[in-house]
Amino acid sequence: MNVMHRLGHLCSRVAQPPGSPTRASRDGVEPPSAVLLLLALLVLLTGFLDPVAGQALHRKAPQNEAPQNVVLRVPGGKIDVTLPEEKLKVSRQDLLNWVRSAADAVSHYYGRFPVPHLTLKVRSDASSRVHHGVTYPKDGGLILITVGRDADINELKTDWTLTHEMVHLAFPSMEDNHHWIEEGLSTYVEPVARAQVGQIPVTEAWRQFIWGRTYWGGAMFCLVADVRIRERTKNRKGLQDALRGILNSGGDITQDWDIEKALARGDRATGTNVLRTLYREMRDKPAPVDLDQLWRKLGLDLKDRIVTFDDKASEANIRRAITTLRSSPQH
Ligand SMILES: [Zn+2]
Repeated sequence: MNVMHRLGHLCSRVAQPPGSPTRASRDGVEPPSAVLLLLALLVLLTGFLDPVAGQALHRKAPQNEAPQNVVLRVPGGKIDVTLPEEKLKVSRQDLLNWVRSAADAVSHYYGRFPVPHLTLKVRSDASSRVHHGVTYPKDGGLILITVGRDADINELKTDWTLTHEMVHLAFPSMEDNHHWIEEGLSTYVEPVARAQVGQIPVTEAWRQFIWGRTYWGGAMFCLVADVRIRERTKNRKGLQDALRGILNSGGDITQDWDIEKALARGDRATGTNVLRTLYREMRDKPAPVDLDQLWRKLGLDLKDRIVTFDDKASEANIRRAITTLRSSPQH
């Protein structure tokens, strides 16, 4: 994973996807029909009665292959997953595990999955990558994402894009001139959420922030806000509380809010005015922070792409709190 690659990520969010799904493709997420179930039963029986035929069938369609349409239960909601029809290098179960991991990281960060019902369509192409993630407010939340036919299990295990897309579900839709905060939040929360649940090392999350520092304006807003909220609240609250506050007052992707409203709701949840004040500061002066000083007080150093921590730094406790796992999500 690298930061330049991250910036090349054309994640877009619009009110209506180009070529909005038709009724036919929506129907694609329904559970398998009785006919399909009967066919599956016949396949199983054939394999059971005739070992040779069974093996032949096994090569074509593994008996443990998951169906194309699956409903995953997640804390506070469900995800209607449609997997590619064609066979990929990874199995359908691998793909479902990948979806589950991303949902798990996001649910822990926000205390629940951001929306009660997400439609997730996984498409395939000739590449070996996970890419083209895009999130829409449509139908309570719709994510389209592409997994290359040659993508391997490691590509799924190191993928950040699906988590990034799911974070978009947890913030209201902004006007065009405020997409910076939507992208900034997803860029910041994705590695923090994954580090909290142990999907990536804590050092990896910080490495991305330090290494990519000149590129990530919106994410810098989030990090500075996180640190300031913790400074003002004796480290009892952070950006995570502000974002949960926004989500829990109804501010998910299906809602159109102006930025001031979202920031005010976030500030209310932390009992501070950090978000609104920082927004005004950054609007007037895009880089109001001395990042070298910020890394020093958090106890962070980067040498040869390796991050080291200094636990004697003045705000090392704040650094640790940011990536500490909170209570489990409600089910
Ligand atoms: Zn994005």
